[in-house]
Amino acid sequence: PRTKLPRVGTTIFAVMSQLAAEHGAVNLGQGFPDFDIPPRLVDALARAMLDGLNQYAPMTGLPSLRKAIADKTERCYGYRPDPDAEITVTSGASEAILDAIHAVVRPGDEVIVLDPCYDCYEPAIELAGGVPVHVPLDPRTFAPDWDLIRRAVTPKTRMLMTNTPHNPSGAMFDADDIRQLTGLLRGTDIFLLSDEVYEHIVYDGRRHESALRYPELRERAFVVSSFGKTYHCTGWKVGYCVAPPALSAEFRKVHQYNTFCTFTPAQAAFAEMIEAEPEHYEQLGEFYQPRRDRFREQLLTTKLKPLPVPGGYFQLVDYSDVSDLDAAAFCRWLTVEHGVVAIPLSPFYGTPPQGQRLARLCFAKNEATLDAAIERLARL
Ligand code: PMP
Ligand code: GLN
Repeated sequence: PRTKLPRVGTTIFAVMSQLAAEHGAVNLGQGFPDFDIPPRLVDALARAMLDGLNQYAPMTGLPSLRKAIADKTERCYGYRPDPDAEITVTSGASEAILDAIHAVVRPGDEVIVLDPCYDCYEPAIELAGGVPVHVPLDPRTFAPDWDLIRRAVTPKTRMLMTNTPHNPSGAMFDADDIRQLTGLLRGTDIFLLSDEVYEHIVYDGRRHESALRYPELRERAFVVSSFGKTYHCTGWKVGYCVAPPALSAEFRKVHQYNTFCTFTPAQAAFAEMIEAEPEHYEQLGEFYQPRRDRFREQLLTTKLKPLPVPGGYFQLVDYSDVSDLDAAAFCRWLTVEHGVVAIPLSPFYGTPPQGQRLARLCFAKNEATLDAAIERLARL
């Protein structure tokens, strides 16, 4: 029988975490923290369950959480989305991405993605009958080439997907990128899907350029975020989408028949956490920055060359002084022979660039985990 996703295998994250377990390797592959989550969050979750918040939440999300998201958005980006008409809580950013694409992409529509991009984008587009159009970011700086992107636009272009801070590179859009993006979309009916799951993990005092800051962008945007990244609990799978009323209405048509709603106790816990401790998300960059700096310094004692990390919790390393294997083979070898799991960049591309020798390491880990990894990497 003809299958729907013939070129799709098991995601690299599942493959590498399985390999990590088989070989007892230090897992710096799949992006998840290995330290405790905020105690208030655990307490609030338990209380929510004991208080009987165990049935379906409203389809759009608990009112208290949508209000908290509106408050947080206003505090961070100077714009207050309407909690009733513009905010929808989802089961992770993954669900929000799938719902947004299915809400507007019709068979044959083109969706521009910037490579390397997070691996769920392309299958989501294809399941909607859309056609992914891959435009490469700079292979070293991961900056967008706006002329190249402009040239990829056709009358069939329905959506452009962006991701800042960027997975896997950590690159971030600056004000000029926003100007270019705004100019490119002006006068078109192209939707923007802005994946901002690492919005609060930014370093060196840089500013996250959320699409929500800019009226001309947010009027056509689905802006997606994830509490898994912000609150160190990737396994809770709660995220959300902010979009103008008409777009949120379409988004909710998909969401209501996909999951209908999301784990109720966690929604109550996030609502409490966001309102009670805004400093948690405001200071998340400062929380991660010493980890990033320490890990980068440690890497300088190895043959792996660290690339800059403006945001997010991934460190790209150039391994060309260690091996000439392609990235997938290198990461397998590193796991099996040296006991450290990294993620190759190739699955993030439509067509991986020839000769790129980069792997991704996650530093959202305890010092002991990172020390154990560095001890092994120093032997390369
Ligand atoms: N987008 C990006 C760029 C991500 O890194 C992730 C998480 N790995 C997601 C979306 C999905 O987030 P969630 O786990 O909340 O579904
Ligand atoms: N987003 C995480 C990463 O990039 C992985 C999520 C997943 O395993 N699907 O590592």
